[in-house]
Amino acid sequence: MLETCCDLLAEAYRRNWITSRDGNLSIRYHDRDHFYITPSGVRKQKMQYDMFKKIRIANNGLREFPEVIEQDDISGNLKPSGELPLHFGLQREMGQHSEDIRVVVHLHPTYTIAAMHRGIVLQDLVKDFPELSRYTNVAPSVGDVAPISQELADHCHKALELDEFGNIAYDIVGIKGHGVVSIDTTPWRAFEHIERLEHICQIVLASGVS
Ligand SMILES: [Zn+2]
Repeated sequence: MLETCCDLLAEAYRRNWITSRDGNLSIRYHDRDHFYITPSGVRKQKMQYDMFKKIRIANNGLREFPEVIEQDDISGNLKPSGELPLHFGLQREMGQHSEDIRVVVHLHPTYTIAAMHRGIVLQDLVKDFPELSRYTNVAPSVGDVAPISQELADHCHKALELDEFGNIAYDIVGIKGHGVVSIDTTPWRAFEHIERLEHICQIVLASGVS
């Protein structure tokens, strides 16, 4: 599965949805007390599965802060993604994915960011493009907040309506001037939420009508 995550990041790079060192991803199996997250500052199109950082979640109850579990592979020389607070909050409890895997993907898809920059409300696109909502629930977007901050994590969790049991009300949230965060039970399912929204945003921008 970690190799699939590497394939996803290479595909995101190929589609121009990230530059080399952007984007991050985490994955958790429901029966484990830890999750894996991409390291900081590496070229994501060349990610290898042994670069992922292992993060402890539970140890006699839920942890308030993430703890890195160091390993003897390439990841030992790397630091976890700066967006760790964003991923940790979403991975700490599994909520509606309690019998499954949970994957959190953060990318910078071009047309979705362009649409937000132009003032288009992503959640409103559902009205004109009902296909979007068949498989993807879009959260209200997050405004201008600094990247790799606890504030960004808090705003995204609030927009997704993350509750104390790890349930979320939406599949994807946009962050103005920055990117999106998407969640699902496989890497490619999470990717498809981004792809679906990106496609609609491209159509809207091509039409010149917003
Ligand atoms: Zn980012």
